[in-house]
Amino acid sequence: MIRNIWAVGRNYADHAKELGNSVPSEPFIFLKAGSSALIDQEEILLPKWCEEVHHELEIALRFDEQLNFSEMALALDLTERKKQNQLKEKGLPWTLAKSFTNSCPLSKSFPFANINDLKNADLMLKINGEIRQQGNTNQMIFSFDILADFVKTHFPVCAGDWLLTGTPAGVGKLNPGDKLEAYLNQKLITKWLIK
Ligand code: ZN
Repeated sequence: MIRNIWAVGRNYADHAKELGNSVPSEPFIFLKAGSSALIDQEEILLPKWCEEVHHELEIALRFDEQLNFSEMALALDLTERKKQNQLKEKGLPWTLAKSFTNSCPLSKSFPFANINDLKNADLMLKINGEIRQQGNTNQMIFSFDILADFVKTHFPVCAGDWLLTGTPAGVGKLNPGDKLEAYLNQKLITKWLIK
């Protein structure tokens, strides 16, 4: 059971720009419910009420018993962009846009030896065979260490929680039937099918 999914917004400058947001001076954190996770499942059923769900491919790190990172996954921080824009305009919280049912697909998790190995990692999302998102973790505004310190300082982080570390540019709308492939350093990590 996952208790919390801590997520950071606008952590890749080119993505902040594509949505017309300024680059933050401290990490901008929001929550996705732990129960919004969809772990290692190939099919993603989008809720009926959603009109404009965007993909945001992200590196996800899992807090272990000592609240360090030793496991990771690739995640989709699914976002109902239409709702999010409406909520943003009104200055309201993003819960409906970010934390709906099935809004956090995660690949099967896998261990990594050293966080430094992830400091220059390529992330890529293909949809129906076409590259749609591509970035490198060297473009992150706040490093994995800074994000971890920030959330542990401000929030009740629990063992087993996940941290989503931001998305590179190229976010866009998903449609039923879309076939997604997520890569880390050119290696296929997982496939997803939108339902
Ligand atoms: Zn995101």
